[in-house]
Amino acid sequence: MKRVGLVTGANRGIGLEICRQLGEAGYAVVLGSRDAARGEKAAAELRAEGLEVHVQELDVTDAAAARRVAAFVEGELGRLDALVNNAAIALDPEDSLETVDPEVMRQTLETNFLGVLHGCQAFLPMMRRQEYGRIVNVSSGRGSFSKLAAGGPCYRISKTALNALTVILADELKETNVLVNAMTPGWVRTRLGGLKAPRSTAEGAETAVWLAMLPDDGPRGKFFRDREEFPW
Ligand code: NAP
Repeated sequence: MKRVGLVTGANRGIGLEICRQLGEAGYAVVLGSRDAARGEKAAAELRAEGLEVHVQELDVTDAAAARRVAAFVEGELGRLDALVNNAAIALDPEDSLETVDPEVMRQTLETNFLGVLHGCQAFLPMMRRQEYGRIVNVSSGRGSFSKLAAGGPCYRISKTALNALTVILADELKETNVLVNAMTPGWVRTRLGGLKAPRSTAEGAETAVWLAMLPDDGPRGKFFRDREEFPW
């Protein structure tokens, strides 16, 4: 039976590339997209490369949608081996906590933090039943607590919270074969990263794919960049 991986926010950018690399590694890929048509367009690209891709409409801010996708995956594909929580927004690049619209903070936390919680809660029962799971939280160096500084406070705080979720969830699951880790892709050329970024999506995706396929004795509750531990 093929292993199955789901990537959120996968219709473009790093998420799409994570799907490609998982597919190339032999996984059946579930490509999560908040817009079904954009998801199908991205999937067509991967299918043309010979990869198995299933599109699921998934707005990560919608907990019920995450549960519906989990039911689809269990019913149609039988299992979920890897959940890559990749979807995110960055709405406040130049803002400060003094002036930021609290609504932007709410939206950012809803997507970048609660969105991950929704995915984990929807898929963990299946991972526990099958006694196997890899959860990869795509975080950012900008959320590293030891490096926090002014600029983009909503995005930064959402990723710091995501890092905390990673450590706590990994500890809650320490008696299981479900490994939870976070990674940062570095500064990557995407709509979020901009054109000046030095890294390709292939470079940005690689560590997430490695974490999605960790052996049973692999790390848990750690933060990585380029397969090396990165400071929280
Ligand atoms: P991107 O090109 O802007 O892609 C973001 C993806 O997230 C898009 O597919 C977008 O869908 C999706 N998304 C946003 N809100 C969503 C929601 N509510 N539900 C479902 N999907 C949603 O960004 P990227 O650079 O590939 O970023 C991927 C991940 O890497 C993010 O977690 C980001 O924080 C992290 N990261 C990126 C960089 C960088 O330099 N690029 C650096 C550090 C960390 P739509 O197309 O529908 O908008």
